[in-house]
Amino acid sequence: MFDRYGRNINYLRISVTDRCNLRCKYCMPADGVEKIPCEDILSYEEIDRIVGVMAGLGVTKIRLTGGEPLVRPDIVTLVKKIRAHPQIKEITMTTNGVYLEEMAQSLKEAGLDRVNISLDTMKPEGYHAMTRGGDLKKALAGIAAAKRAGLTPIKINVVLINGFNDDEIEDFVGMTRDEAVDVRFIELMPIGEVATWSKSHFITNEEVLKRVPGLLPVKAEDPSSPATYYQLPGGRGKVGLISPISCKFCSLCNRIRMTSEGYLKPCLHSNEEIPLRPLVDSPDLLEATLRRTVFNKPQEHHLEEGNIISREMFKIGG
Ligand code: SAM
Ligand code: SF4
Repeated sequence: MFDRYGRNINYLRISVTDRCNLRCKYCMPADGVEKIPCEDILSYEEIDRIVGVMAGLGVTKIRLTGGEPLVRPDIVTLVKKIRAHPQIKEITMTTNGVYLEEMAQSLKEAGLDRVNISLDTMKPEGYHAMTRGGDLKKALAGIAAAKRAGLTPIKINVVLINGFNDDEIEDFVGMTRDEAVDVRFIELMPIGEVATWSKSHFITNEEVLKRVPGLLPVKAEDPSSPATYYQLPGGRGKVGLISPISCKFCSLCNRIRMTSEGYLKPCLHSNEEIPLRPLVDSPDLLEATLRRTVFNKPQEHHLEEGNIISREMFKIGG
């Protein structure tokens, strides 16, 4: 599916739940989170039908996210259903990794190709504080299990927060020296909880290059990747910089998103949402709606102008 700017939209990110087993301070409030009622959340059959129509229109890559995708019961079944569509060449997941120790092997067997794991600090107390109660050991065990199961190449996502983990930049980069993992630094985005944070917490990814001047630029394997990649001389893994604020990558964007209630979001940073659930039983209408929405995908976001997105990250799916 091509949009009117000539971008080939072949990547769908599906948020399978708004629930999460952690409460990262930049993503969710401590309490009082209003949960989406269960009956409003798409069933696996509904997701599967939408994926089938999208696959017919040229979507080849699916990422499952949330909330935390591994808290949705029987997520392995959804992976199997998606795997049954031959047009879908790659199925990935973004997870905090806490449940991966138990689930990595069955996810791999169901057809999941690889995982991106969010890990913002390697300090146990810092992890506990930022996630409001999380246990770093579980996340690390999840990363190890994902490696054993072959959910590789593993990408570690680190949201850079000034005064919290900027002192760990060198350590995270150091992980890529001996291990075949990619560490990707993501600029903090002013969405949801973060919209009210002090500007002092925001740093650009330039900081990574300042702290580790020896990083050498390398070509991304996937040209539509939002990350620019670097490598330590002789390093086994890569270092990615994802800079939605300081360096927009909208012209390369190939993705659309679907929330757990079945709203299609043509752009993460736009408040435009198209309800797909009422169309699940009308494939022709669903197809026409998808084509039209993709064609009209916004050209770019306007976060740098102070544009605020009303839906929080854990509801959209990061
Ligand atoms: N629970 C899973 C996880 O944490 O990986 C998947 C959902 S989470 C919303 C997806 C990604 O969004 C995570 O890497 C998280 O760090 C990132 N994220 C959440 N809020 C963010 C923000 N305000 N700015 C930048 N990244 C954010
Ligand atoms: Fe949960 Fe992921 Fe949000 Fe953290 S970033 S609260 S793990 S959804």
